[in-house]
Amino acid sequence: MASINSVTRQLGALEISSKPNTQAAPGRPTHQKKPSQNTGNVSKLLTKFAAPHPFPAASHNKTGSVSSVHTGKQNVRPPSPVKTVPSAPRQPTIDIGHYDGGFEKENEKRGEKVYGAAAEELALDSSVAHERPTREWHLTDFDIGRPLGKGKFGHVYMVRTKTEPHYIVALKCLYKSEIVQSRVEKQIRREIEIQQNLRHPNVLRLYGYFHDEKRIFLMLEFAGKGELYKQLMKHHRFTERRSSRYIDQMADALSYLHSKHVIHRDIKPENLLLGINGELKIGDFGWSVHAPGNRRTTLCGTLDYLPPEMVEGREHSEKVDLWALGVLTYEFIVGTPPFEELSGHNATYKRIAKVDLRIPEGVSPEARDLITKLLQYDPEKRLPLSEVRRHPWILKYRPKESTTAPPQSS
Ligand code: ATP
Ligand code: MG
Repeated sequence: MASINSVTRQLGALEISSKPNTQAAPGRPTHQKKPSQNTGNVSKLLTKFAAPHPFPAASHNKTGSVSSVHTGKQNVRPPSPVKTVPSAPRQPTIDIGHYDGGFEKENEKRGEKVYGAAAEELALDSSVAHERPTREWHLTDFDIGRPLGKGKFGHVYMVRTKTEPHYIVALKCLYKSEIVQSRVEKQIRREIEIQQNLRHPNVLRLYGYFHDEKRIFLMLEFAGKGELYKQLMKHHRFTERRSSRYIDQMADALSYLHSKHVIHRDIKPENLLLGINGELKIGDFGWSVHAPGNRRTTLCGTLDYLPPEMVEGREHSEKVDLWALGVLTYEFIVGTPPFEELSGHNATYKRIAKVDLRIPEGVSPEARDLITKLLQYDPEKRLPLSEVRRHPWILKYRPKESTTAPPQSS
């Protein structure tokens, strides 16, 4: 019997998209949808194999950065040729676990309708996206399974599409009124905008999104092994082999993101998920921004992972992610972040600004070398990602046959 593994891999290789709606929908009610043009037809669900290049030209703008979210306010692109998969592979039924009715129960007591500009801002629907429109999705299109976790703005469930070939995805719910209360409408839009156009094995895919009056739903790649943070808590720290495999994948994913002018800015174990083969998936783009010309001095991210330039309120660039990669390497191997000070934020800030780095005995000279080269005060002096991927500590553990999956043991 095929495993979740093979299903998720197939998912990764396929675009869940469909013929774009050919009519623009200006001024239509924000939470009402037109009757679907693509209901229930699997061959239309499975319309395109992933392009050879993971980021086809159609989704670039002139600056090469990723394209933006569309809410139906803007014109929809003309139809593009769509390849139909001749015979979609039949997927066996995967056990998605028991549904506790959480979406409905939560919806009764949580959130309110939003109106006006906020409603427009949050009328997010990938079926009318300018680039890569998907088919039109509704909550009723899914069989809902076990809860996967709780996010800030709602629950995440393991779900399966009712139509064959029964895709498994993680459906993440966000309550619009809570987004508005937290004043993160723009941030959420940006997160979706960025994530929907990224195609990399170590970046969590966003297959589509839709909304109703109170909620937004994100159809995310199912990360079968859950949170990396939980693994780190369980094992306290990882072996250098395992750490090296993760850092290799991180460096690969970050090179990809930077090539798309995306700075992540919030690299930390809590934002990393694990695929069914234990491969790392960057899964949270809440603080990401498009570079270049977009250097900001806003303080964001988790304290322990902030680089000196952000602690000191200076301009920053994609080099912030290199610093965070150094912090991550340290935390994987040692078990705690390098500048952590339990006495308070100020003490941590001071240690970061001084680059007060103390690497414990027992850390290998190669790991020590990589950490030191990434944790440089001067952003320009940090080891570039291409060199991280060629670093002896990375090469030492990279399996010859593969460049992705880390070993399963800790
Ligand atoms: P938080 O502030 O707690 O990080 P959030 O709003 O960013 O919340 P997520 O971290 O995306 O929400 O999701 C909450 C939890 O749901 C995660 O910690 C994880 O356990 C689970 N989860 C989210 N997305 C997936 C996924 N794609 N596959 C498997 N589990 C997931
Ligand atoms: Mg999160």
